[in-house]
Amino acid sequence: MTARDLARAYSGLATAGLAAAALVGWLSGSFAWGVAAALAAFIAWHAIQFRRFARWSRRPLGRLRTGDAVWEALADRLHRAVGLSRGRSRALVATLRRLRTTTDTIPDGWVILRTGGEIEDYNRGARDRLGLSASDHGQNLVALVRDPGIVSLLRGEVESDIVEIAAPADETRRIELRRIAIDAERALVMARDVTELNRLLTMRQDFVANVSHELRTPLTVIVGYLEELDEDNPDFETLREVLPKLTPPARRMRALVDDLLTLTRLESAPLPSDETTEDIDVALMLNTIVAEARQLSAGVHRIVLHAESDLHLRGVSTELYSAFNNLVTNAVRYSPDGGTIDVRWHRSAAGPRFEVEDRGMGIAPEHLTRITERFYRIDLAGARVRGGTGLGLAIVKHVLRRHRSVLQVESELARGSLFYCVFDPDRAGEDDAPVSATGSPEGATRTAAAASSRSPSAEA
Ligand code: ADP
Repeated sequence: MTARDLARAYSGLATAGLAAAALVGWLSGSFAWGVAAALAAFIAWHAIQFRRFARWSRRPLGRLRTGDAVWEALADRLHRAVGLSRGRSRALVATLRRLRTTTDTIPDGWVILRTGGEIEDYNRGARDRLGLSASDHGQNLVALVRDPGIVSLLRGEVESDIVEIAAPADETRRIELRRIAIDAERALVMARDVTELNRLLTMRQDFVANVSHELRTPLTVIVGYLEELDEDNPDFETLREVLPKLTPPARRMRALVDDLLTLTRLESAPLPSDETTEDIDVALMLNTIVAEARQLSAGVHRIVLHAESDLHLRGVSTELYSAFNNLVTNAVRYSPDGGTIDVRWHRSAAGPRFEVEDRGMGIAPEHLTRITERFYRIDLAGARVRGGTGLGLAIVKHVLRRHRSVLQVESELARGSLFYCVFDPDRAGEDDAPVSATGSPEGATRTAAAASSRSPSAEA
């Protein structure tokens, strides 16, 4: 019923009532008293209705039943309006709750501050990052997080409105705070944990420093020799003497650049898929690797290959060649003359297993977890003479990770090392017509050599 309908119905009712009262009054001979009595009854009725209405309107959740259509219609209109606004507030509260839950899931923190630094609101991230508690509304942020950086930030004294402070809850972590003005009275402070970012930046700086250092050494040698030459008139004898000396440092630089490129490729290339992998005759591959290792060893080591020639592996051939080759050449480079090196490829209960065992200088426990880091080298007299870029095991780690395997190391100082890895059984392939792997003096053996159980063991 519209307001106009209500008014019309109401005035119709009143007019009819008054007319009836007038008629009764005229018939009874007292017109005035009749109208007065009707008016009094009318007022009394509405006074009762009004009281009911007033009582009901304090909490107008249900319908008002009074027996008066006009008051009921009025009450219905109010009831509908209240219902509508309750629905809207419920939706608003739900939206606010959702917003709060969302901002609470963001790991970054935010704090809304008034001009004096009093906290108006903040999310859970701010609690975690800045060590605020659930009841810090209205408190001054400067008093809660005691750091001179915050004072300067809130005074607008720092460049780009960004400062870095130690996390109040954990001094080892670093928090970056950024101030953003909302309006004249309020500002937003964003808090972000930058510990990991700082670590990555430091790693990048260290990496660039390491590469520069590694390149600088052979470059200095080359430049030194070149400066010995008389630029205008280099005599033939000096040239003949100097030129061969340029080759080793130049090769070293090339090896370093090659390894760096390999590592970059391994890190950025998509994981091997069915299209990029092939069935590899590992025994055949190891024949070549062992033959090259023997050349590197120049006959001073005994290198023995035990390979199950019918055990194939699905993978990226170039990558696995590089990984296996690095492990075998390391065994040669870190073994004293006369040492025996065993290279094994065989089936194991967990899956196809590759291992290289040497009786060389071994690795102390404190280095075991770090030897796969780029440029990590153990400072051992004599070891560097045989070359190496410090990237070999990092390459091995990446190749194996890309083939869902892990490099494992067991080593003991002065006793030797065992480097091994196991591949998923589903990567194994069988050759129907086994080919003999003839890389070792003994030829290929079909026996699975047991792994040495020296300790300590580490996953490098
Ligand atoms: P590098 O080019 O220096 O050999 P790697 O990444 O291949 O770099 O190896 C890292 C370090 O691990 C080496 O510098 C060496 O100290 C140690 N290492 C690797 N293989 C062996 C091994 N078979 N025996 C002893 N130490 C080894």
